[in-house]
Amino acid sequence: MERLASFSNDPFDKPPCRGCSSYLTEPYVKCAECGPPPFLLCLQCFTRGFEYKKHQSDHTYEIMTSDFPVLDPNWTAQEEMALLEAVMDCGFGNWQDVANQMCTKSKEECEKHYMKHFINNPLFASTLLNLKQAEEAQHNENSHSFPP
Ligand SMILES: [Zn+2]
Ligand SMILES: [Zn+2]
Repeated sequence: MERLASFSNDPFDKPPCRGCSSYLTEPYVKCAECGPPPFLLCLQCFTRGFEYKKHQSDHTYEIMTSDFPVLDPNWTAQEEMALLEAVMDCGFGNWQDVANQMCTKSKEECEKHYMKHFINNPLFASTLLNLKQAEEAQHNENSHSFPP
C-alpha cells in the first residue's frame, strides 16, 4: 500500500499532457469523466478546450494542485473562461449583465462562483487571464504580419 502511494506521488511517473505532451507542472487539469488512465491536461491545452477521442471540452474536471482548492465541478472550462470574460466586459459587480452574457448560469451563481474561486484564488484567475492575453497577443501579431 505504501509503495503504491509513493509510486503515484512520484512526479516522474505522471503521464504528460494529452494535448501537447509537455511535462505537467501544477496546476494542471484532470478530467473527472475520462479514465482510467487519468486524462491530464496542462492549463494551456485546457483553456484552449482541447478535445481527444472520448474527451470533450465540456467534461467536468479537477484542478490538480497543492496550492489552491479544487474548483466547482459544476462549472466547465468554457464557463470559467466565459465568466472571466463577462466580468471583464461588463465590469466587476454587474452580475445581472454577466449572467445575461453567460446564459447558462444565474446572477447569483456567477457572483458566488467568482467571489469564491477568483477573488480568493488570484493565482488561478491570473493564470487563465495571462494565457488568454498571450494567445490574443499572438493572434494580433500574426494578423499584423499577414495583411489582407
Ligand atoms: Zn498541454
Ligand atoms: Zn474527459
